[in-house]
Amino acid sequence: MASQDPTRSRPPSAPPPVAAPRNLASPVTDLWGVGPERQRQLERLGIRTVAELLYHRPHRYEDRRKVARIRDLELGVPMTVHGHIVAAGVKTFRKGTKSVYEFVLEDDSGRLHCRWWNLPFLERIFAVGDGVTVYGKPNGLKPRTMDHPETEKAEPGEDPSAHMGRIVPVYPLTEGLPQRVLRGLLYRTVQEFSPQVSEPHSGLVSIQPAQAEDPLATMQPPATRVWPTVAAAVQALHFPEHPESAELARQRLALDEFIELQLTIQRRRQNLERSVTARPSGGTNVRMKPFLASLGFPLTGAQQRVLREIRADLSASVPMRRLLQGDVGSGKTLVAACAALMTLESGWNVAVLAPTEILAGQLRRNFERWFSPLGFAVHLRTGSTRLQHERAAGAILDAPQMWVGTHALLEDGVVMDRLGLVIIDEQHKFGVTQRETLVRKGRTGVHSPHLLVMTATPIPRTLGLTLYGDLDVSVLDEIPAGRGRVRTHVRERGALPKVWQFITQQLAAGRQAYVVYPRVNESEQDEAKEIKAVTKEFARVQAALKPHAVGLLHGQLPAEEKESVMQAFRTGAIKVLLATTVIEIGVDVANATVMLIENAEQFGLVQLHQLRGRIGRGAHESHCILVAESRTEAAVARLKVMEETADGFALAEADFRLRGPGELVGHAQSGAAGFRFGNLHSDRNLVEVARDLAKRHLRREVKASPSR
Ligand code: ADP
Ligand code: MG
Repeated sequence: MASQDPTRSRPPSAPPPVAAPRNLASPVTDLWGVGPERQRQLERLGIRTVAELLYHRPHRYEDRRKVARIRDLELGVPMTVHGHIVAAGVKTFRKGTKSVYEFVLEDDSGRLHCRWWNLPFLERIFAVGDGVTVYGKPNGLKPRTMDHPETEKAEPGEDPSAHMGRIVPVYPLTEGLPQRVLRGLLYRTVQEFSPQVSEPHSGLVSIQPAQAEDPLATMQPPATRVWPTVAAAVQALHFPEHPESAELARQRLALDEFIELQLTIQRRRQNLERSVTARPSGGTNVRMKPFLASLGFPLTGAQQRVLREIRADLSASVPMRRLLQGDVGSGKTLVAACAALMTLESGWNVAVLAPTEILAGQLRRNFERWFSPLGFAVHLRTGSTRLQHERAAGAILDAPQMWVGTHALLEDGVVMDRLGLVIIDEQHKFGVTQRETLVRKGRTGVHSPHLLVMTATPIPRTLGLTLYGDLDVSVLDEIPAGRGRVRTHVRERGALPKVWQFITQQLAAGRQAYVVYPRVNESEQDEAKEIKAVTKEFARVQAALKPHAVGLLHGQLPAEEKESVMQAFRTGAIKVLLATTVIEIGVDVANATVMLIENAEQFGLVQLHQLRGRIGRGAHESHCILVAESRTEAAVARLKVMEETADGFALAEADFRLRGPGELVGHAQSGAAGFRFGNLHSDRNLVEVARDLAKRHLRREVKASPSR
């Protein structure tokens, strides 16, 4: 085995060394055997340089340490054999509609018949005399036969030690590029270049080169593990000596990816702490007391705890950077209002950024209701409303003020001075850049505003560390008392008549309802898949629910129309809102107790949970009915989770497991989840290790250069 280690033996067919010095940054065309055609193929795999080739990850491995002699094959036992083709041909039968291709493979011990049904083109791929490696289960011994085995044809001039007698990598391929060719190329490249791969974060990770191939190393927990060097990891990634060393290598490379990200995140935080000062905004309690008394309900324990955390941050000289996580309905807006009030009391202005006009409008209304009686003006700025600077009735001249708006707040022309606090609602709808733009607007000299970002999307911890590693986290884990229960029911399409009947009953009892469809307008594909669109179904729903008034709401309506429909729904003039997911955030109507979501299989669990958060806001029992069109078992099993739990974190974990991070992180941030070796779900421990290593490293850096 040791003699086949690519660092120790040169294959007999190795090319002569070329004159120009080649390194990791060299184009692949500098490698032996890579001409313009191979270059194009590699480029399709995202490989342009030697380094990129070294980081091309096998998608699986095949254990070929034991190559059997054909004579020793046993019935039903999967084995690899290697030999030469001595005969081959196609037979057709049933008047040419069926065929079988067969070749006979011979080694020095015997012969094996390999057969494939209805793949006659194989005749053009194999020829008598070819060397072939075959992997499969013998299904007959007299004569020895394998049906549909896996094969790999030897390439002319290749070094067989890359492909035989070892654990071999199996790579993702592209058209025209055979597995053997790519493996041979990697074999030579790993041998020549992997020693040049340097430690990207040298000094951070404890390294023990001698243990690079120690299969026991993976049994150590990552936190106390001694890791192989990156050079050794690259080699073991492609040509491991033990099955475990490939996994150890992957983890080593994943660790580097996580460290890279953690360093970026934590440096951002460190720069903040060193270069700017906050405006002390802990408040005076002068207006806070009457404000809380006017609410008519006490704060929940969770709200009080979080507000203590926020007050401590706002009083400090380092600007607050805090994420407030709380399930839909947990009362985040009120926490934001209290934080805003502390800031206003301290004499500074506040800006609030919301992802949609509906939500911005709703927040503006709440804040105005709460703050104008206290003498603070609240302005609205969205794409369709210019910033209105008229003073609200009763506002004190030169009193601190508040701006609420959408992306429009970020525009260049909008000036917001003396900002003490920036609040971002539904943070996951924005990217880090937008967050920073708003904070920067509030900067003057060394003063930077505090930042509070809020989200109802429950983020599993590893993902949180990755996306929000530079933020402190507060969790509202308590729903205010006096809310009715929400029951969730998964139904088939056939049950729809009964569902509509149920909705009509609820409307007759004075309740209101949401009906949610995935699309605004119907496309041809949608029609074929029976995916419903609100504009198409509007007339039908109106007719079905007569005499109850139905309103239509979707993202493509003009802002005034959205606002007037929402207003009519809030006042009860409209009983039913037929809507797309525009209602998933911010809409707060306590009398709405029914939600019907059709084509529910089109949505992620977290999104369904968010939508479901629109009901159950009053004292009545509420019902969420999920109707699935495509009754595949997986889709239904996924939706059934909704029936069983109202715990947003559990749903997020389920979504994360079933559908990956895309949906949870939102479009703006999906790049953060694009790891080649790391997996945020299964590598939790590694993420934690990377975080600690990065932390310790930055602390050392500070000690080493205190003046920076
Ligand atoms: P979310 O966390 O989803 O943003 P909201 O802030 O919209 O939740 O709060 C949902 C509803 O609960 C609002 O009508 C709000 O006034 C109300 N609410 C908030 N805090 C409390 C509380 N402590 N007791 C009772 N109701 C509350
Ligand atoms: Mg909210």
